[in-house]
Amino acid sequence: MIPSQLVKEIKGVVGAENVLEDEVDLLGFSYDASENMKMPDLVVRPGSTQEVVEIVKLAVKNKIPLIPRGSGTNLCGGTIPVLGGIIVDMQRMRNIVELDEENLCVTVEAGIKLLDLNKYLQRKGFFFPVDPGSSNSATIGGMISNNSSGMHSLKYGSTKDNLLELEVVLPNGEIISVGSKAPKQVSGYDLKSLFVGAEGTLGIITKATLKIKPFKETFYLVVTAAFKSLEDAGRAISRIIKEDIPVSALEFMDKYTVRSVKEFTGLDLPLDAEAVVLVECSGHEASVKYYIDEAEKILREEKAYIVEKAKNIVEAEDLWKGRQSSFGAIARVKPFLIQGDPSVPVSKLPEFVRGIEEIAKKNNVIVVTYGHAGEGNLHPTVVTDERDKDELERGFKAMGEIYRLAISLGGTSSGEHGVGLSKAKYMSYEHGEKVLNVMRQIKKVFDPFNIMNPGKMSL
Ligand SMILES: Cc1cc2nc3c(=O)[nH]c(=O)nc-3n(C[C@H](O)[C@H](O)[C@H](O)COP(=O)(O)OP(=O)(O)OC[C@H]3O[C@@H](n4cnc5c(N)ncnc54)[C@H](O)[C@@H]3O)c2cc1C
Repeated sequence: MIPSQLVKEIKGVVGAENVLEDEVDLLGFSYDASENMKMPDLVVRPGSTQEVVEIVKLAVKNKIPLIPRGSGTNLCGGTIPVLGGIIVDMQRMRNIVELDEENLCVTVEAGIKLLDLNKYLQRKGFFFPVDPGSSNSATIGGMISNNSSGMHSLKYGSTKDNLLELEVVLPNGEIISVGSKAPKQVSGYDLKSLFVGAEGTLGIITKATLKIKPFKETFYLVVTAAFKSLEDAGRAISRIIKEDIPVSALEFMDKYTVRSVKEFTGLDLPLDAEAVVLVECSGHEASVKYYIDEAEKILREEKAYIVEKAKNIVEAEDLWKGRQSSFGAIARVKPFLIQGDPSVPVSKLPEFVRGIEEIAKKNNVIVVTYGHAGEGNLHPTVVTDERDKDELERGFKAMGEIYRLAISLGGTSSGEHGVGLSKAKYMSYEHGEKVLNVMRQIKKVFDPFNIMNPGKMSL
């Protein structure tokens, strides 16, 4: 419960219309895109950095947890108020502060949605290249705090690679600016990077300067290949990376994904394949044609038994349809999905996918796997029914074993979606207590009273 005097003071800062306290309003902020849920005590919607400062000062004084929130599309429970407290909804802070065309960068408030930013940028002839599947809703603050990436991060990098400066309100109410518009900066600790992937545990990001790219109609081509063996598919993926083919996407679907997609879309996909691999190259037409041929050669040499290559963008779009339908197709199999995002070294992909199959069998659950093979980042997804409590339990157990397998292969429990609540219990296994304690000490320096998004990431 938030003391009524404090609610009054918060209303004094942001205006009563920007404070939500009715149960029905709070309900909308009690969940995110993960399986977790908990009611907040209050939602506050600041409109400026100064209002964020005042809210933080009041929360510290009263030792009330603050949970920054963008659109709540995270898949790890990052915005669930586990210990109660105040959700700080950043979506009113959505202004574009400055477009610097000379230096190819844009400064925005953290609550702006990627979709709105890109609409604005495209009108001016630019775009922000990080493209998570949630790009219609995700905010820049949420993307920075989860270090989001997308299908094309092989070419453009993840959010951290496209970030120049941050303005952050620290848990003591101070505003700091970290980073620089200069393309290179090595003066002192890289504090900007500390806030990337921090999931709102160190402070509230209020502004960001992002790198942008000129928007041009990009030429791209795609080649897809079906393999009878996972090992052959794995070798093909490794060789494409090792031989430095400049791919813009390198995606993977296992046989269960292929089956679900075929049933869902009616696309002509091979049911006897163990794996289907998709390679995309984009950029200058002549170079795209050259490199897509190189990729095709490797796929064939590594025993792909069906290869389809697009001759133009229309055909390339068609070849993407199967991979792009994966999530929707799987969601039709059973109503509740437990989706993971582990990442392993690329050479370990075949061993990892085999291991996932064994874990599924052992726990008697269906696990469907697809993902961003070029980055070793897969989405094993347990398809289950939450009404079947026993199956649900086996599903979560299987996902835990999958995370541990990824870590034991030299990988990580999260290549994309972050830790939040869902993966907190694997932090010690992945990093060891010594490293985790360093993280806890860092948190303490910034946030001695543990008010910033407490109960997350095992901190
Ligand atoms: C359908 C779907 C597809 C997705 N596809 C991808 C994908 O391809 N790649 C990928 O990486 N992720 C993906 N995601 C996960 C998610 O969308 C991203 O992580 C996204 O960037 C989160 O943005 P958000 O604004 O919704 O953040 P939220 O969910 O609101 O918050 C995420 C985290 O950031 C913190 N936070 C939010 N704003 C701030 C701020 N201003 N200051 C400090 N901390 C803050 C929160 O406390 C929380 O810990 C997907 C999710 C869905 C539902």
